[in-house]
Amino acid sequence: MPRHPERQLERLTQPVAARLLADSGVAVVVAGSVEQHGSHLPLGTDAFAALSIGERAAHRLDTVVATLGPVGVAHYHGSWHGSLTLTPETMMAVFVEICGGLRAAGARRILVVNWHEGNSAALRLAADRCQRTHDVQVVLAESHVVTHSLHPEEMEFTHAGSMETAAVLAFDPGLVRMDEVERPSDRTAGERAHALFRRPDVYPIMRDFHDVAPTGWYGRPEAADRLRAEEIAEEVADHVVRRAREVWAALDETVAARPPDAGVDGARIGALS
Ligand SMILES: [Zn+2]
Repeated sequence: MPRHPERQLERLTQPVAARLLADSGVAVVVAGSVEQHGSHLPLGTDAFAALSIGERAAHRLDTVVATLGPVGVAHYHGSWHGSLTLTPETMMAVFVEICGGLRAAGARRILVVNWHEGNSAALRLAADRCQRTHDVQVVLAESHVVTHSLHPEEMEFTHAGSMETAAVLAFDPGLVRMDEVERPSDRTAGERAHALFRRPDVYPIMRDFHDVAPTGWYGRPEAADRLRAEEIAEEVADHVVRRAREVWAALDETVAARPPDAGVDGARIGALS
């Protein structure tokens, strides 16, 4: 199964989009970033990666995919000109307003497909606000984490290495410039530094990506392969949708097991099933 640009909300006519949202009760929302990825990958790598997985997820759920726009929260890439960022507050406001529109069209469940670590904190807060403001249920899928977890050796969790090169190959191979690859930062040092910011318990907050990779990137883009990239994107979309369905089923069971007088939330969330 290839990409599904026909699932992008802005490419659809209004009656078609309205029917898909109302019939499915679900919308996919993608979040990416516009930031430097060396001289071989486009600034929009994370935005394209998220959209590629989001389209495929929307196809599987027979619904639409909406984007927050390509830009995410990426101020720590700002010293490489051309990188753009939103403040977390801006991203949260955009998210809540877009989800409000999707809810009005009948989407009671929002599946967020994110491909950028810098967005995660803002998305969690925005999802919480959205659930309280718009009476929707939000599930977050960290699609870069899924991709790496499914194939830890092959899909390296670096910046602009094999995993992100594969993600762009699966979106549009014409955007990858392997003939322009410049010197990566040291891989071992990059992994060690990145791991510090990714610790789950006690961890620092990133201020400048130079702290991870002085040249802006590290990894092995040459290890990515176009056909394999397509296979992996499909596998990631399958995984994201399967896990989202598991979450929805588990939440439905919780609601069904709750006594009828368990409060406003019980009644409200019950209406989702
Ligand atoms: Zn990236």
